[in-house]
Amino acid sequence: MGLFGKKPLKIGLIGLGKIAVDQHIPSIRGNKNLELVAGCSPHTRPEGVKAYPDMDAMLKAHPEIEAIAICTPPQIRHKIAKAVIATGRHVFLEKPPAATLGEAEAIKTLAQAKGVSLLASWHSRFAPAVEATRKWVSERPIKNITIHWKENVRQWHPGQAWIFEPGGMGVFDPGINSLSILTRILKDAVMVKKADLHIPVNCDAPIQVEMDMQTEAGFPIRAEYDFLQTGIQTWSIYIESAAGEKLTLSMGGTELEIDGKTLIKEKETEYSGLYAHFYDLIQKKESDADFSPLRIVADAMLLGKRIAAPEYIE
Ligand code: NAP
Repeated sequence: MGLFGKKPLKIGLIGLGKIAVDQHIPSIRGNKNLELVAGCSPHTRPEGVKAYPDMDAMLKAHPEIEAIAICTPPQIRHKIAKAVIATGRHVFLEKPPAATLGEAEAIKTLAQAKGVSLLASWHSRFAPAVEATRKWVSERPIKNITIHWKENVRQWHPGQAWIFEPGGMGVFDPGINSLSILTRILKDAVMVKKADLHIPVNCDAPIQVEMDMQTEAGFPIRAEYDFLQTGIQTWSIYIESAAGEKLTLSMGGTELEIDGKTLIKEKETEYSGLYAHFYDLIQKKESDADFSPLRIVADAMLLGKRIAAPEYIE
């Protein structure tokens, strides 16, 4: 039995790759309100999970599944989400919600029409220091923001060829996490002013990006994304207030430092927060589908200058 004596919500997974195994499976199992019934994936068969080759086979064997988390690459998310919604089940979308804004909006419309709950998840918004950062930012005028999101694609995304294919978003795949934090901590809309997109000659998506943005209030935001970072890996947002105070949100949102003093340094628990939120949405018959981080990436692709970068070989 889950909390309040209710039966746990029965969940199925589609796409049993890295994020499903690292985060979804343990987070569902760690939540008394949820029960992981089964998963499906063309090839991968994680130990201890009843797995099927596709959604139809999974739902035929387990019609009791009430909600489905889609953990595939983004390029096939819309087609899968459409099929899930047609069955009347609630949907949890991994980030980014789809390969394009049009597809994301279409999923939202379908979910509304069918009356199912939709969570377009942004796991970084659930990092432990994000809410304290949002509060700090809301209490003072801001002078500037700088984002450094620099990681080694060979270390973190081995074998994930889809990242450099059309719709894979390249370095924006991790970079969009910083934009999900940015759009959570700022009230104003963020506009892209300039973007340099370095695209390897054998790829369809950028491996490095330098981007300048601005808010309606007029302060500058600079973002530097690098998928070729070796050595120290950086997932940081630096914020300076008009009065010269300095806030650093680092390690993807788990650590917070203000004027050199560490105020938060916690373990990452993003997916347990996300699943608790998903459960809550379903209980309240609500959805959470904010596409503003995807819109910034789309704007960067609309406005950006494409610069040929050396061939990328994994
Ligand atoms: P991944 O390791 O490549 O896993 C993707 C999985 O999707 C693969 O296991 C693949 O199955 C499965 N798949 C492909 N086509 C399918 C289909 N038609 N039906 C069902 N399953 C299908 O990628 P990932 O790192 O888990 O990333 C998946 C999503 O999670 C991406 O949107 C990514 O941005 C997001 N995410 C990733 C991370 C991370 O650290 N990796 C963190 C947060 C969010 P087979 O293996 O069976 O062929």
